[in-house]
Amino acid sequence: MIETSAQLRQAFLDFYAAKQHQIVASSSLVPGNDATLLFTNAGMVPFKDVFLGTDKRSYSRATSSQRCVRAGGKHNDLENVGYTARHHTFFEMLGNFSFGDYFKEEAITYAWEFLTTVLALPKEKLLVTVYESDDEAYNYWLNNIGVPAEKIIRIGDKSADKKYESDNFWSMGDTGPCGPCSEIFYDHGEDIFGGPPGSADEDGDRFIEIWNLVFMQYNRHADGTMENLPKPSVDTGMGLERISAIMQGVHSNYEIDIFQALIRDTAKLLACDDLEHKSLRVIADHIRSCSFLITDGVMPSNEGRGYVLRRIIRRAVRHGHKLEAKSFFFHKLVASLAEQMGQAYPELVQQQETIAKILRIEEEQFGRTLDRGMTLLEDILATLKGDTIAGADVFKLYDTYGFPADLTADIARERDIKIDHDGFDAAMAEQRTRAQKASQFGTDYNEALKSAHHTEFNGYTQSDMTATVIELFNS
Ligand code: ATP
Ligand code: MG
Ligand code: MG
Ligand code: MG
Repeated sequence: MIETSAQLRQAFLDFYAAKQHQIVASSSLVPGNDATLLFTNAGMVPFKDVFLGTDKRSYSRATSSQRCVRAGGKHNDLENVGYTARHHTFFEMLGNFSFGDYFKEEAITYAWEFLTTVLALPKEKLLVTVYESDDEAYNYWLNNIGVPAEKIIRIGDKSADKKYESDNFWSMGDTGPCGPCSEIFYDHGEDIFGGPPGSADEDGDRFIEIWNLVFMQYNRHADGTMENLPKPSVDTGMGLERISAIMQGVHSNYEIDIFQALIRDTAKLLACDDLEHKSLRVIADHIRSCSFLITDGVMPSNEGRGYVLRRIIRRAVRHGHKLEAKSFFFHKLVASLAEQMGQAYPELVQQQETIAKILRIEEEQFGRTLDRGMTLLEDILATLKGDTIAGADVFKLYDTYGFPADLTADIARERDIKIDHDGFDAAMAEQRTRAQKASQFGTDYNEALKSAHHTEFNGYTQSDMTATVIELFNS
């Protein structure tokens, strides 16, 4: 019987191991081979150099359950958390990979076998998409797998100049390996809002994307021409939480075992009776990303990866405030998480106390200004004319009370209010200029000392970080 998320993770790895795939342990959330990437955001990230041919492995087939974070940078799902049934900042991506070994046919056959035989999902509930011109994949689904034509959807590019590529065309960057994808969706039933992929309502949560099969078929050159790769490869990714939801007979990822346990423990700490409260979901999501980021060596700070971590922590603390938290609560959830995920990730258990200590320090620091910041924000909202908070106000909340702009935006969004991002950026730039001018009057040795110790991500500052982190992966 496959019921729990842990059983599902194991069943996936066992299935591909039986098909001669090497089981590879999850890599760190901090990519070791790519300084331009903020976080590991897909299962293929640790294998990037193998696909490029610059790293050789003793195997040509691999499978993994890779921990991923999609917060900040190009693949940013932070804003989706609490709003959709399917997005997390931290999730696990189950994947199988072929490095110049098998291609489309096997990738499709294996995926279908796993879903419909091992997991015994009803075929009628599955839909697939292919890239519009990929007749090979289309015909294979139709003729060899037997998916009816009305359940195979061709998805084209979003703009004619190909500037906005299709969800079904993947590329590693502007140049290099790329190719069409085929995605598998699950229909959670007509009671739920949303249309099939490619329709106007595709962003609803009725048809949930569970698995992306990427066929690396071409090598794209700087002039845009594409040449066939001599040995095409396969990269697939399926969200463990999404497939768990299906196996556990629930619609939302937040209703699966791991999340329910975290939500119950959070509710107990905050004395909240409404187990469906959005804030509980957000906190349960955030304790996972924050704990795993710290486990992988990221420390809260004012720039780069550390600033993304700090922003997530502050969001969680704010949601606790919304639920009228009487004391510091966030760090206490590390124990609950370790209980849920410690078996799969022993490092979480080993570092449990350190993680909790770091989170507690952050909670205390932000807790000191949160109340006063919230009072100011309420004043701003109460006297607001129009539907946008001025950049100068967003900046004041940031500068004086430690509210990152996205936190202010998150609170504003709950009231249907926007923030002036450009105005905020301008205020930030102005402050930077002021600081530079001031520093001409003398040397701040503390600053010099600090920057000498910055070996990681020293190219970014907090405000331009999200804008300039170049992400090569577009899975
Ligand atoms: P969506 O369209 O739902 O945002 P995606 O197309 O961005 O998903 P991919 O980049 O194709 O996702 O990643 C492969 C798989 O990883 C997805 O099919 C999904 O199962 C899972 N996944 C992607 N993003 C998330 C997330 N934020 N939280 C949980 N699972 C995710
Ligand atoms: Mg997405
Ligand atoms: Mg998608
Ligand atoms: Mg996808």
